[in-house]
Amino acid sequence: MSELKYCQGPDCHTYQTQDRLKGPKGNKTYQTRRRSSMYYGNGNFCDMRCQNDWFYKYGTQAVNHFGRLTEAKHLTEDNAWTKDYDWNSNDDRVYVYRNRITKEQRPLTEAQYNDTSYTINTGE
Ligand SMILES: [Zn+2]
Repeated sequence: MSELKYCQGPDCHTYQTQDRLKGPKGNKTYQTRRRSSMYYGNGNFCDMRCQNDWFYKYGTQAVNHFGRLTEAKHLTEDNAWTKDYDWNSNDDRVYVYRNRITKEQRPLTEAQYNDTSYTINTGE
């Protein structure tokens, strides 16, 4: 049994749904949802509305905290590699690295394809 955690939506408790109404008879209150797993915002929010509420309230602070872009990023030949796969005549996947600018293709193993930290891109 995984631990229950609270939805991080700042207004979650203000949405009057039956599942949020909790407490002893005669003293029930609408409460922040608490679940073992949530599917929105990397598992931090019970629904899209709570995720949006959080971003509306804290998004600008978060962007400033983690680093606001102050100039355009550039897609260049060095960072345009993307993992992809084709199908061969036996219906097997053939993994490839494909450069979105030069259209060059390089072989890729299935393990490299699945390894999210593996890249041949240099730079962002
Ligand atoms: Zn919520």
